[in-house]
Amino acid sequence: MDFDLGEDASALRTRLRELIAQHLPEGFLGAFTNDPADLDVTQAFCRLLAAEGLLTLSWPVEFGGGGGSLWDQTVVREEMWAHHEPRGAQYMGLNWVGPAIMAYGSPEQKAQHLPPIAAGEVIWCQGFSEPEAGSDLAALRTKAEPDGDGWRITGQKIWTSYAGMAQWCIIAARVGGGERHEGITMFLVPMDAPGIEVRPIRSMLGYHHLNEVFFDDVAAGPDAVLGEIGGGWSVIKTALAHERVGIARYARCERLLSALGAELAPHWDDLPSSLHAAWARALVQVRVARLLAYRTVHAQESGGVPDVIASAARIAVTQCDQAVGEVLFSATDHRSLEAGFDAPLHGAVEDHWRYAQAATVASGTIEVQRMIVAKALLRGEPV
Ligand SMILES: Cc1cc2nc3c(=O)[nH]c(=O)nc-3n(C[C@H](O)[C@H](O)[C@H](O)COP(=O)(O)OP(=O)(O)OC[C@H]3O[C@@H](n4cnc5c(N)ncnc54)[C@H](O)[C@@H]3O)c2cc1C
Repeated sequence: MDFDLGEDASALRTRLRELIAQHLPEGFLGAFTNDPADLDVTQAFCRLLAAEGLLTLSWPVEFGGGGGSLWDQTVVREEMWAHHEPRGAQYMGLNWVGPAIMAYGSPEQKAQHLPPIAAGEVIWCQGFSEPEAGSDLAALRTKAEPDGDGWRITGQKIWTSYAGMAQWCIIAARVGGGERHEGITMFLVPMDAPGIEVRPIRSMLGYHHLNEVFFDDVAAGPDAVLGEIGGGWSVIKTALAHERVGIARYARCERLLSALGAELAPHWDDLPSSLHAAWARALVQVRVARLLAYRTVHAQESGGVPDVIASAARIAVTQCDQAVGEVLFSATDHRSLEAGFDAPLHGAVEDHWRYAQAATVASGTIEVQRMIVAKALLRGEPV
């Protein structure tokens, strides 16, 4: 299988790798380590990418983008994820909040929100999941009630990534008495609005990644509604398809497997053949995940929002993530849990394994992805 995307893509990759080598500290593991300085690194790196015209390379020029292709965006996302996502918490705004605002926002919302995202200046969080509404998201109970010409929002969100560092939240709330999908409406709310409280959830994902967010009678203006009142479900579906395609952890998996190969090369022949086989199998899984991700990009090029194809790709990516985590663990043996610069792969083994465990839950569980694919197959649709 030839994954070469052509000369322009290679040049873009080289440019990104140069910027990464010049501006990220060696051994950088992402924004959510125990070192708060890592968040500052990602914020500065986003501004740098914006100044270089690379942060929103594939956005339309009118929205502050570079007018590049979806394949350009694929290269950017692969290089970012391969190097521990130096866009940090901003990737959510770039990956799908921005595109959702482009697709559903009013001219005023586009003018207000897209330029700061394109400039690398704003962190968005996603308030979908609730304590009783995760896989069954349509059961969400957060309410938005009319108040004058605006709204009052009350409810609780959970597992909200980056809520403690975000300036804005895209929140799904229920308007009126509609059941299930009916009535779900999206709101764009500033995180410093009175009545919003963020409580971090301690987890193995590290510094303030996951949070509960409480909305207590939070005032939102009429301009806070994204899309139609009651039309939130389509926004969510579009958003989740973008989100699932955008997490290119297969690129990190390939880089780590290759770095592991290089580190083990001097005594490769002394290693058990079961480890050789596991390494090779994991690499095959990674390449399959990459192929499925490319299929999604190809489908996106034809204009659709390929949620079934995106789910199939997501299943493969999360599985290769975990397979690679296991190979890294076995290969580094008693040193696998070490963290820090002097640990094997500069501590990326332990870091990768922890995150890989969450991969089959985040952005919709693997069981839910499988059901989306299975239902499409049963309907006779191509998957
Ligand atoms: C790292 C991480 C980051 C996240 N970030 C965000 C975020 O920023 N914003 C946000 O809104 N949410 C976020 N989430 C939440 C995530 O979307 C939910 O955790 C996920 O959708 C599952 O919901 P749940 O936790 O309520 O589990 P449940 O829905 O209660 O599921 C529990 C188990 O039951 C299974 N299950 C449920 N229903 C079915 C069914 N019908 N058939 C078969 N099996 C089923 C599930 O697959 C799962 O194994 C994040 C989660 C993680 C792990």
